[in-house]
Amino acid sequence: MKKITIAIDGYSSCGKSTMAKELAHRLGYVYVDTGAMYRSVTLFALREHLFDAEDTLDADRLSALLPQVRIDFRLNPETGHADACLNGENVEQKIRGLEVSSRVSIVAAQPFVREMLVRQQQAMGEGKGIVMDGRDIGTVVLPNASAEVRAERRYKELQAKGQPADYESILKNVQDRDYMDSHREVSPLRQADDAIVLDNSHLTIAQQDAWLMDRVREKLAE
Ligand code: C5P
Repeated sequence: MKKITIAIDGYSSCGKSTMAKELAHRLGYVYVDTGAMYRSVTLFALREHLFDAEDTLDADRLSALLPQVRIDFRLNPETGHADACLNGENVEQKIRGLEVSSRVSIVAAQPFVREMLVRQQQAMGEGKGIVMDGRDIGTVVLPNASAEVRAERRYKELQAKGQPADYESILKNVQDRDYMDSHREVSPLRQADDAIVLDNSHLTIAQQDAWLMDRVREKLAE
């Protein structure tokens, strides 16, 4: 059967991981919690005393120590979900506490941390049959729509509105912006061009799961 990679991006605590876990379970796919990877690096930094009293991170030291950090996910037979492991130790509970939560954004803002974790996430996505959630999955880790496809879409959109459109300059603009977006220091949350947006403010978890399964069925049928 055809397998796809599914990226779920969104703000903290918006229900992404509940949705992603359930979806992976239903499809028999692997779920990768990329936030847990940033959290694990933060726990490592805490243990190495890399934050001072004002919570300033010693980024140079973290950069030097980063090659020692190994993160992987191991199936927990009790929950049926994959737990985050830091250098072989199960840290699934420890990375959820406030000590880590209040500092993870500082660590996630370091370009060298993002570079290493994005590389690992891309390798995980290669096999397909993956549900990955985070902030930059659809845009940086597993981007899908090529610049040409997006330029073509924008071109058709403008034409349909009766506005002047020049494909070459639209393509150049798309490529320039991709370059700027992917070369700025931090990659903040941004919606993927081919993302399907769900406003789950007024949905139950069962309703949002049903919505998501419908979208996946549509994709698989394409
Ligand atoms: O998803 P979760 O809330 O566990 O993520 C923890 C933190 O990791 C986020 O607040 C964000 O700073 C960072 N993060 C990120 N990019 C991702 C996933 C998480 O910057 N793909």
